[in-house]
Amino acid sequence: MVRPHLSPTRRRLTVAAAVVAASAVAVTVTASAGASDTRDQARRAIQGGKAKNVILLIGDGMGDSEITLARDYTVGANGRLDMDKFPLTGAYTTYSVHKDGTPDYVTDSAASGSGWATGVKTVNGRISKTPGSDKAVPTILELAQKKGYATGSVTTAELTDATPAVLASHATDRSCQGPADMAKCPTDTIAAGGPGSIAEQSVNHKVDVLLGGGRQRFDQKVTDGKYKGLTVTQQAKRLGYQVITDDRQLRAVKGGKPVLGLFAPGNVPVEWTGKAAAKGGTEPQRCTTANPGRPAGTPALQDQASKAIKLLEAKQKATKSKRGFFLQIEGASIDKQDHAADPCGQIGETAAFDRAVKVARAYAAKHPDTLVVTTADHAHTSQIVPLDAQPPGLSSTLVTDEGQQLKVNYSTNTPGASQEHTGTQVRIAAQGPQAYRVLGVTNQTDLFGTVRDALGLRR
Ligand code: MG
Ligand code: ZN
Repeated sequence: MVRPHLSPTRRRLTVAAAVVAASAVAVTVTASAGASDTRDQARRAIQGGKAKNVILLIGDGMGDSEITLARDYTVGANGRLDMDKFPLTGAYTTYSVHKDGTPDYVTDSAASGSGWATGVKTVNGRISKTPGSDKAVPTILELAQKKGYATGSVTTAELTDATPAVLASHATDRSCQGPADMAKCPTDTIAAGGPGSIAEQSVNHKVDVLLGGGRQRFDQKVTDGKYKGLTVTQQAKRLGYQVITDDRQLRAVKGGKPVLGLFAPGNVPVEWTGKAAAKGGTEPQRCTTANPGRPAGTPALQDQASKAIKLLEAKQKATKSKRGFFLQIEGASIDKQDHAADPCGQIGETAAFDRAVKVARAYAAKHPDTLVVTTADHAHTSQIVPLDAQPPGLSSTLVTDEGQQLKVNYSTNTPGASQEHTGTQVRIAAQGPQAYRVLGVTNQTDLFGTVRDALGLRR
């Protein structure tokens, strides 16, 4: 079975031939991962069954072009990222809906997150509430928590940003991040009898592990109710949270009590820097792989991911629970650097996210009862174009680790404006119990059902 002398392309052809020969098998098997046992992994992954744990990794704005760009730059055109190594790969559609339920072909992270977190599509900007009636819909994290799973959410954005927000809060608009940000959510305020801002809801939910940025939201003062006059951080401490703010504290913190890690005032500063794309292009550039603007003591996403897993395991051990955990890990600034047409920032964040994928897969290798899913919430603007192309918008030429030039184009909005999401389908890849359900072309909302059934949850 093992033919190490075959090139990945040749190996893929061999598998394709085998699939044609079997002719009844209509599955897409990613067999070019370099691992000789990919087909065995795939066979195992196609079995259903229950998962003890689920690790869901979301690359925000990480469409196929973002993955390809990071691959080309860091490991080469024929190299493979860790996220390329899952045995089962499919595609899913990400569209959101208008208030009347008709499709809105380009989603934002709030509506798409609500889709995978609740199984219900909503309008852009909405956090886990219905599109028309604006009613809260139970989330996968809430259901998991109710059934006794430990729960966690890790992000490079603010913890109150749309992607983490969809798991442990319900808001009319994604902007309602802290108690002072409630203008667009009149019925969600505590004064109006609502659940309060995204920050307040997140800590009220007692999610076991919350790691990311957004300290400024938690430093805002609660305006009404039981915690009036306290900051949300003080409220979190009252609720039993250990609050940490840097790498050293992250390493030292012990399980047993919930952990709130706030590692930056806003978004966690990006890993890499370089010249942003420009009208007419840039000189060929290499990326700077250490951002001087990233404060020492800012934990890497991969370290947050592995600590989150340890803390969640510790929680279950301390409470003698037979259940495992649900953990979401977001690479948020792939999207944000795409918006800013900054290819180096974008690639560095994709590479950082990929290292978190590696942590998750290494855990699953030792704990095969773990479902690991890696996907995006929507596609984005960057495109790899020919070197002699003269795109009218923003572009930049990079010199890859292979020593070749690569031109990347950002033209989904006028230069100077924020570049935009796109409406194309994105990759979803998985391994472990129920992983086969990502095969073929599915809908983003199907991911909710996959995780729900893997953990044996009921809505
Ligand atoms: Mg996000
Ligand atoms: Zn975005």
